[in-house]
Amino acid sequence: MPKINLLDKHISELIAAGEVVERPASVLKELVENSIDAGANIITVEIKDGGISYMRITDNGCGIDPSDVPLAFLRHATSKISSGEDLNSISTLGFRGEALAAISSVAKVEMLTKTADAINGTHYKIEGGSEVLISPSGCPDGTTIIIKDLFYNTPARMKFLKKDVSEANACAGVIDRIALSHPEISFKFIRDGKQTLNTTGDGNLKNTVYSVLGRELSSGFIDAMGDLNGIKVSGLICKPVFCKPTRNHQYTFLNGRLVRSGTVVAAVEQAYKNSAMIGKFPSFVLYLTVPFETVDVNVHPAKTEVRFSDEKRIFDCVYSAVKNALASGDTRPEIKPQTPTFNRFERMTTEQFKQTVIETQEKSTPKPVYVELPKEPIPVVNLKSPMPEFLKVSEEKERIIEVVEKPVYKPTVNVDIEKEDEEVLDVILIGEAFGTYIVAQMGDSVFMIDKHAAHERILFNELKNNSNIEVQVLLTPVTVVLTKQEYNTILNNLDILNTNGFEIDDFGNSAIVVRAVPTTLIGEDIQSLIFEIAENLQKSGKVEVEICENLFHTVACKAAIKAGTKISTTEMLELAKKVLHTKEIMYCPHGRPVAFEIKKRELEKMFGRIQ
Ligand code: ADP
Ligand code: MG
Repeated sequence: MPKINLLDKHISELIAAGEVVERPASVLKELVENSIDAGANIITVEIKDGGISYMRITDNGCGIDPSDVPLAFLRHATSKISSGEDLNSISTLGFRGEALAAISSVAKVEMLTKTADAINGTHYKIEGGSEVLISPSGCPDGTTIIIKDLFYNTPARMKFLKKDVSEANACAGVIDRIALSHPEISFKFIRDGKQTLNTTGDGNLKNTVYSVLGRELSSGFIDAMGDLNGIKVSGLICKPVFCKPTRNHQYTFLNGRLVRSGTVVAAVEQAYKNSAMIGKFPSFVLYLTVPFETVDVNVHPAKTEVRFSDEKRIFDCVYSAVKNALASGDTRPEIKPQTPTFNRFERMTTEQFKQTVIETQEKSTPKPVYVELPKEPIPVVNLKSPMPEFLKVSEEKERIIEVVEKPVYKPTVNVDIEKEDEEVLDVILIGEAFGTYIVAQMGDSVFMIDKHAAHERILFNELKNNSNIEVQVLLTPVTVVLTKQEYNTILNNLDILNTNGFEIDDFGNSAIVVRAVPTTLIGEDIQSLIFEIAENLQKSGKVEVEICENLFHTVACKAAIKAGTKISTTEMLELAKKVLHTKEIMYCPHGRPVAFEIKKRELEKMFGRIQ
């Protein structure tokens, strides 16, 4: 066995640095978190070449006392905790006292820092863990830290870095997430001389989300809020139609810290069940405030997983907040037609404009058609005198060309205001497109309603909310022969089927007999319905609520009017009214939207009536 050596300070720091300082993005995370812990409300971050050659973080936080500056760069030197007990209630982002020591052991670091009550600040330089300079210096309140040539003395680690672009993207991702976690702090991010992010820091989450995640994503968000068992949740969740095929935009912040929590994700996704399409995931930005002692953040410095002392409490609070938001918020998708951004005439010179007008006139002015005039002069029609013979039309034609009196707007005195208001709220049926989409108007919007999806959702809700489902006994019971697997599935779920509008008996030999079905299914092919139920139940989980919902899906889908099926205008109007007056009817049970809204304002913008 070789001799045991006690590693010197520098080597042990390099080893420790390997854990905290993986790449430029992890350095940036530590330094920006230090600025937040220092109480800054304006933080500017600049990087060059993916952060490898240069990183600067400037904050207006509390700064560091001159005598404390060298201490801050020692391992296990922190101002954030002082005893083991403090570990149980950590309220700052940092607490290990490792970051500055680790970073300065693998890079060239320069710091300018000043506290508000000091006359002078401190200029400090440390390279590869060795102090190079400490001197008083004039500087603004707060701290600026510059990191140059990261990993210059650890070539092995340097090799693991990706291309500058990837490292810069990872840095941008860190800043995005931190900016989202603190809407009350203004963040600026400058990448190779270009400012790519600027958040207002006004505390308004929507403004921050707009700056960080962009217009498209933020337009699909609605508010979510909840308070249960001492846990507070607030933030934004996406309308179900904005669910994405990836989980890339799921942000959970716990007491101001970005975390990963399977419990929170599961609670949100469970709340979207029956609203989001299968295979699509909700985007969300949720802030949880929990008592510090109920969460263990001391898992790993570079990891974001958290453990809660009571996961169920967290689940229930998040689930109910999201469920309520989906039920009460306006989650109906809206169509925003593309507004032309410029008038093409505005970009033309006078000459071009004249030419265009001439061309347009040439194209649109119909060529004159010369007709031979009758030799006899055309008689002037005197309405008082009897109609000349040649102008007389048959009685039938006369009816067609009867003059329709132009409606004249007559201002009404004594308008019944309440009635007028109601008529605004009224749903007006405009028609139907492609035998599938009902077009209706309500208030200042036009709605396109998918009649199958709408009817399916209405039936699903009725089945789900009604403890006494209306049952229709079949005149002739229907015997259905199934595969062994289907047969077993039906028998295993017989109780559920029989308490939810069906009357089914085991007939032996892989067959069942159906004696009654929910009234809504009258007229449907019972055999194919049973096949579908069996198939869908096989896919369902084991929880009773899930099995019931699965059954209701199948029944609702089967009984709902099919796209392309003709229905009367009265039925269309009824359906439209139900959809537009009921908040719960936004998505079909498979997560497809039931209706799209087009606002009058958007149409007016599109047609250039308003700007
Ligand atoms: P930790 O954040 O875990 O305490 P660090 O090594 O990141 O450890 O920082 C060491 C100490 O340096 C901090 O506890 C803090 O007192 C001080 N410090 C670091 N960065 C800043 C800053 N931007 N503003 C004020 N103080 C800072
Ligand atoms: Mg720190």
